Amino acid sequence: MEKQTILTGIRPTGHLHLGHYFGACSNWIKLQEKFDTYIEIADVQALTDNFNNPDKVRKSVRQLVVDLLSIGIDPKKATIFIQSTIPEIAELTVFYSNLVTIARLQRNPTVKTEIKQKKELFGESGESITYGFLGYPVSQAADITAFKGKLVPVGEDQLPLIEQCREIVHKFNSIYGQTLIEPKAYLSEIPRIKGLDGNEKMGKSLGNAIFLADDEKTIKQKIMGAITDPNKIKIDDPANPNICMVYYYHKLIKNPNIETVCEECKNGKRGCVVCKKELINHMLEFLKPITDKRKYYENHPEIVDQILKEGNQKAKKIAENTMKEVKKSMKINYFE
Ligand code: ATP
Ligand code: MG
Repeated sequence: MEKQTILTGIRPTGHLHLGHYFGACSNWIKLQEKFDTYIEIADVQALTDNFNNPDKVRKSVRQLVVDLLSIGIDPKKATIFIQSTIPEIAELTVFYSNLVTIARLQRNPTVKTEIKQKKELFGESGESITYGFLGYPVSQAADITAFKGKLVPVGEDQLPLIEQCREIVHKFNSIYGQTLIEPKAYLSEIPRIKGLDGNEKMGKSLGNAIFLADDEKTIKQKIMGAITDPNKIKIDDPANPNICMVYYYHKLIKNPNIETVCEECKNGKRGCVVCKKELINHMLEFLKPITDKRKYYENHPEIVDQILKEGNQKAKKIAENTMKEVKKSMKINYFE
């Protein structure tokens, strides 16, 4: 039986963080065993709001691939490729842009939240929203459909984008005939990982992330600064672990001692500093195998490049095939 295809993506705007790992990538590691897996390094999408920082995007591409290999993505099972090397995706984006209204894009909840966050970070007068940024959900629909992705394993923030993709596919098929596949989102056990500041989403661009590549000193600093129950003032004040980010990360990385942490916190038997130090130790232990693997790939950039070159080639063939079908359906296959 032919394996089903899954397609997912990540923007080269920085290293992987715990949000990616637990919210999406840990699923990719499992799913690559059973599915024909494609992982796109979405550099074109990253440029929509980082167009003035090409160095950051360029540097992040290889960093991210190293991160993905370090957490256990196996290039023999999953195809890792760079979005900009597949011009068919840009072509599809143009065709799909006729099928989406501007009002619909403006109503997309993810796009709305991201615009709001940008305003908070850069101020009302900061960078205004470009045509490219507003249209990135269309480009993402092109990413998914170019590979006929049936399942898209993502974090919760991506659900409105998958929905938008489904609408585009539906409209395309109803106008031009059955050609594209409507994808389904596939969420992880914890589909949204919170940030160190208590924000509902840990994000690369939000300054509230623990990156898998952070060194010991940075991990210590970040965890020592994490938000705890503001009502706990003295060391023996009882506290509410459910509003404490330190407890939240203890749980996330599966501290075997979690019940004790919870009980002691509730009963005022554990100070926040001790609790943070315990988390730091567990976090470093959790990151150690990833860090060791990263060192290997950092010392072998030629392996990383080879993986990408092969991935790009394989992905391009699939996208070319889809393009032929799309052009036929749209009756723009003039010389066939
Ligand atoms: P950026 O701020 O540049 O958009 P990001 O941290 O949001 O970066 P993306 O590259 O946009 O990361 O997302 C890659 C994948 O990781 C997506 O599937 C997204 O849903 C998932 N993801 C990112 N952050 C989280 C999070 N905090 N919780 C769960 N999933 C997440
Ligand atoms: Mg994002």
